Amino acid sequence: MLRRKRRDERPEHPFTGYKLARAVLSADGGRAGFAGLTLGADQVYGAVGEAACVWSPRHAPPRKWCGCGFYCLHDVNDARDLGCATENRSALLIEVVAAGRYIRYERGLRFSNQRIRAIRESQCECGRPGAGLADAGTGIVGWRHLTPVCGMCAGGRPAILSLKDFAALLDAPVPVRVPPAAVPAPAGAAAGESPVAVLSAEIALLHARLDEIQSRLDG
Ligand SMILES: [Zn+2]
Ligand SMILES: [Zn+2]
Repeated sequence: MLRRKRRDERPEHPFTGYKLARAVLSADGGRAGFAGLTLGADQVYGAVGEAACVWSPRHAPPRKWCGCGFYCLHDVNDARDLGCATENRSALLIEVVAAGRYIRYERGLRFSNQRIRAIRESQCECGRPGAGLADAGTGIVGWRHLTPVCGMCAGGRPAILSLKDFAALLDAPVPVRVPPAAVPAPAGAAAGESPVAVLSAEIALLHARLDEIQSRLDG
């Protein structure tokens, strides 16, 4: 998938990259984090992290013949492409800054030190932008997987956390920079909104759109 070009370089400037990550919430609901999708799916990292090799404590990631370290892609569209795969649908798209040791690939980097710069995209399984996060029904020891839900699909599901509330539970501040066009119901994303409020905001928006279509038909 990723083709290596050079190895073991140290960047003069930190790189910006994009990746998919699964949002997780601690069992007591007090801490949030991210988990990898395939490699490192059982390792939770926060807003700032240094990679450790899961296979060998004797080397520091990224090691040439090992898969260890953090990964990111240079182009946000490559990360979006990955997000289309069935198993990645519930992942968040995040922007990261890579630093430390790294190995450069054609389309991305494998590296040792990561800081999450922003949460960029989240999508409900129905295809609408995810306004909040709900329990995905899966997880790893100590952490529940979360899945993005829109206001329409949130109805009746408990424990909805807005992206902002999720970000506030990370070990360091991470801004939520989901494009305005991708947030159809901003009222629903506010902290403390009930799923019903989110749902009514979505329905109000839907009605507004129907009215608009109706007025066009009439005109
Ligand atoms: Zn390793
Ligand atoms: Zn939905």
